Amino acid sequence: MKRKWIFVTGGSRGIGAQIVRSASRSFDVVFTYKSSVDEARLLAEQLNSEPGRQVEAVHCDVSDVSQVNDIAQSLIHRFGAPYAVINNAGVAEDRLFSNLDEQVLNAIFSQNVFSAFSVSRAFIGAMMGESDTCIINISSVSGVKGNIGQTAYSASKAALIGMTRSLALEMARFNMRVNSIAPGYIETDMTRHLKDNGSGLKKSIPLRRLGSTAEVASLVDYLMSEGAAYITGQTLVIDGGLSC
Ligand code: NDP
Repeated sequence: MKRKWIFVTGGSRGIGAQIVRSASRSFDVVFTYKSSVDEARLLAEQLNSEPGRQVEAVHCDVSDVSQVNDIAQSLIHRFGAPYAVINNAGVAEDRLFSNLDEQVLNAIFSQNVFSAFSVSRAFIGAMMGESDTCIINISSVSGVKGNIGQTAYSASKAALIGMTRSLALEMARFNMRVNSIAPGYIETDMTRHLKDNGSGLKKSIPLRRLGSTAEVASLVDYLMSEGAAYITGQTLVIDGGLSC
């Protein structure tokens, strides 16, 4: 039987790259990259050299609606509707509220929120014609609880949670499940700048460590599995207890 395929945004690095690695064991995967051209090419090459894996990297700035629509149309034409869309691409820029300006706000919302809307909208018509599909939005624990310097980032990630709930209600009759994952501190380029001399960051996390990209990817695998067939509209927090 032909394998189902999934679409992952921001698969060139960090959490997205691990989602691609893990999910490509069960699904054909198309992932997007923007700046990390070499990383994306290498990841696709490495995975395609393993038997049974089919992975394709496509250049796409997910904040550009026309690029997103063109790529979605071409992929639907080639492969039909995807089984899953994973809205993972995102950016973080920490600034105190007093230092926020329109430019930063627009950049964060267009890359973290509007991109998830345009990517989902580009595929959803085709997905509604299938009997079993899902959308997974990578939110953040910052969308569940506040964090100093993250008013814009927190608001953007909370917006994804709101979108998840309402879209889940709209899409349930098509047996499309829509869920979010809210990671805490995960070891990627995004958190590399956070200094920890042993007394700060890790002590604030009940499990005393940052999470791994593999731990987030396994939650994505679970949400795409039959075991999660009755889960929709939810936000699964994976944060080592940070938000307790
Ligand atoms: P990284 O900074 O390591 O990677 C970000 C990824 O997003 C890259 O693949 C990048 O592509 C892609 N990307 C960013 N902007 C765009 C864009 N406009 N168009 C296409 N691709 C884009 O981030 P993480 O892996 O850490 O984070 C992934 C997601 O998880 C984000 O949504 C983030 O907010 C969320 N998250 C991360 C946490 C963490 O602790 N790391 C915690 C909570 C949530 P390229 O390099 O090719 O430009």
